[in-house]
Amino acid sequence: MKLKAYRDFFTDKLAPLYDREEANQFFVIALQHLKGWSRTDIALNPDAELTKNEFEQWNAVLADLEQQKPIQYIFGKAYFYGLEFTVTENTLIPRPETEELVEWIIEENADKGKIKLLDIGTGSGCIAIALAHNLKNAEVHAIDVSAGAIKVAKQNAIDNGVNVTFIEMDILPTPSLSEEYDVIVSNPPYVRNLEKQEIKKNVLDYEPHTALFVDDNNPLLFYDKIAALAKESLKPDGKLYFEINQYLGSETVTMLEEQDYKNIILKKDLSGNDRMIKAEL
Ligand code: GLN
Repeated sequence: MKLKAYRDFFTDKLAPLYDREEANQFFVIALQHLKGWSRTDIALNPDAELTKNEFEQWNAVLADLEQQKPIQYIFGKAYFYGLEFTVTENTLIPRPETEELVEWIIEENADKGKIKLLDIGTGSGCIAIALAHNLKNAEVHAIDVSAGAIKVAKQNAIDNGVNVTFIEMDILPTPSLSEEYDVIVSNPPYVRNLEKQEIKKNVLDYEPHTALFVDDNNPLLFYDKIAALAKESLKPDGKLYFEINQYLGSETVTMLEEQDYKNIILKKDLSGNDRMIKAEL
């Protein structure tokens, strides 16, 4: 079969599940990964034939996409803040709204002197690594409870040429952090089980639930604990940044006020949802 004809077969097969533009994007991504070709290479080689082996590889990708497996997990790569990250079943796929949080932190901390920064619940390491890459003044540490995530994050730091100190640790039973920081950031699990019906199959079936879900009765569990740890570990002018559940903006602000945080700013993401918070002591 000609590759050009396969492209039509591929996008037709995906038509019930994805719109045409998205199906085309998947084709282009697969073309890059499977053949090292860009879209123009097809135009330049209109008669290119698929070998039997390639045909099988393409069909395996197609079958995964028909199961709504995210393309980032199929090829193990995702892009965040202009950098490439390996992702596995142990790490979430970095989200665009998290890029907005990173941007906010960079804007506010780029012109400081040397700073020390901690990312709690780092996953693939995307926040910590994007910050280390863009804040040359920052010494960056990152914590995660998952050994699998830490392994991926360490490799991502190496691949992106930055230095981040990774620590495998469960913060919930931890009485205090061992160092002081100028900036503490976290995008902890925040989706309530009651929100599960809003979550698409591609997320629910493939992304790590420990990184996503919290108990309906205690959705701020991680925020509460991190705020308490940060209270003891932030330097005098230190700042705490969170990505938050869009439905829990005012609850999160109240919790921070109750823990005596000041100058609390709640910010919306580009979709207009309450998505991030900054607080100071
Ligand atoms: N924003 C993610 C989602 O919608 C959730 C990330 C998180 O729980 N920290 O799936």
